[in-house]
Amino acid sequence: MPTPFDQFLNTTRTISDLEAANAVLSWDQETNMPPAASEGRAEQLATLSGVAHRMRTAPDYTGLLHDLRSDGSGLEEWQRAAVRETSRDIERASKLPERHVSTLARESALAHDAWKRARAASDFSLFRNNLRALVELKRQEAELVGYGAHPYDALLDIFEPGMTVSTLRPIFERLLDGTRKLLGTIRESGVTVDASMLHRTFDPDRQLKFAHETVAALGFDFNAGRVDLAAHPFCTSFGIRDVRLTTRIYPDDLRSCLFGLIHEAGHGMYEQGFDSKLARTPLASGISMGIHESQSLFWENMIGRSHEFWSWAYPRLRATFPEQLADVDLESFYRAVNMVEPSYIRVEADELTYNLHIMLRFEIETGLIDGSVEVDEVPELWNRRTEEYLGITPENDAVGCLQDIHWSFAGFGYFPSYTLGKLYAAMLREAIVKDLPDVSAQIESGDFGAILGWLREKLHRWGRQKSASEVIGEICGATLSERPFLDYNARKIARVYQTMP
Ligand code: ZN
Repeated sequence: MPTPFDQFLNTTRTISDLEAANAVLSWDQETNMPPAASEGRAEQLATLSGVAHRMRTAPDYTGLLHDLRSDGSGLEEWQRAAVRETSRDIERASKLPERHVSTLARESALAHDAWKRARAASDFSLFRNNLRALVELKRQEAELVGYGAHPYDALLDIFEPGMTVSTLRPIFERLLDGTRKLLGTIRESGVTVDASMLHRTFDPDRQLKFAHETVAALGFDFNAGRVDLAAHPFCTSFGIRDVRLTTRIYPDDLRSCLFGLIHEAGHGMYEQGFDSKLARTPLASGISMGIHESQSLFWENMIGRSHEFWSWAYPRLRATFPEQLADVDLESFYRAVNMVEPSYIRVEADELTYNLHIMLRFEIETGLIDGSVEVDEVPELWNRRTEEYLGITPENDAVGCLQDIHWSFAGFGYFPSYTLGKLYAAMLREAIVKDLPDVSAQIESGDFGAILGWLREKLHRWGRQKSASEVIGEICGATLSERPFLDYNARKIARVYQTMP
């Protein structure tokens, strides 16, 4: 007779397999699928999601979960965590009536089309009514799910469990203040960085080969993963031993393929690092979007844009592109990939000014959800804040409030994850430097084993067993803070712009 936990695990694993099959189909859609297959693929995806949803909400299964929750005695710690996290996912879903879910899906599909047209025409009015409908639905969702102090908390919770507006606001204010001071330091230095060498012509095959070799050296396991090309880079996982990365290549921008792939490999190494006993359960996943993003940003920026890293990697890059980089020394290259310059487009922003893009979206989203900002005001508010924070004014809505896909799929609450990822990454970096005193020398010699081992031991292997605040508290002995991120940037800016902090 199987125990209740075994019964629970059986169904959980079946659901996980269905979701993995769904992920394979989605991955194929982005990488290989012929265009005429899209309608059939949509049906297949809907069928698999439907079966998984029915299994997850079946009374037998929810009853079993309820029993295991009320009496978890005899369960190991990871087993109790599996029950807790599975219940968490189901509880939220159960508060949303099917009508709400289907209306949201339909409105999102319409909004996504409208957004594409609006962005192409750079005309916010083509998207306005769709955005209004989605905001209304997400406000309803916040009421249905429930929240403490601010309705936006209910949306933040989807991506960053436990995070609230009242926690984020003061951190964002201090981050804004610190960022402005650092931008002032750069201006006062009068130093300009030349990044033009990154835009010479670089053979795509060689770029991809170099990026491959780099992420393999960092520790991405190609026996348990692979890389393909896609229009928008992403990482997806069908299991701990099957993690897929994608990247894109621009011949005239050396950064996109390499840093894009390091970024996705950061996500991928996290996915490859979960304890194998968590496989095919909800615990074999990142704690939150912010923690997931901390892993990609740690490798992309804190390792991949460090001077130590390029001391090791630059001779190899130069050997790959001897003509293009003949007149570029290590120092100039290092400064080029760390140039700070305010720009309109979030995804092209540098490490420091990136957060300013997030803050203005956070302000607009919280306002839309609590009713203090009207949809009609969005373009104006967007431009005003861009000018205030970045000192530049978007010339049209396409490079302003229409640039991001997130609102078109009702992804309110997602944007803060990016900044949280940066703050977590800097906190983790500080802890690594403390724990591994010769980490700089290791990076300079292309040895990343100790760093990856440290991340595996302290963070990856736990999967979703611990919360973000628990794991950060244990590792860093502190709560979420902007201070390590600002310190790290101050040191980098002093080096790149030849100033003293
Ligand atoms: Zn990412």
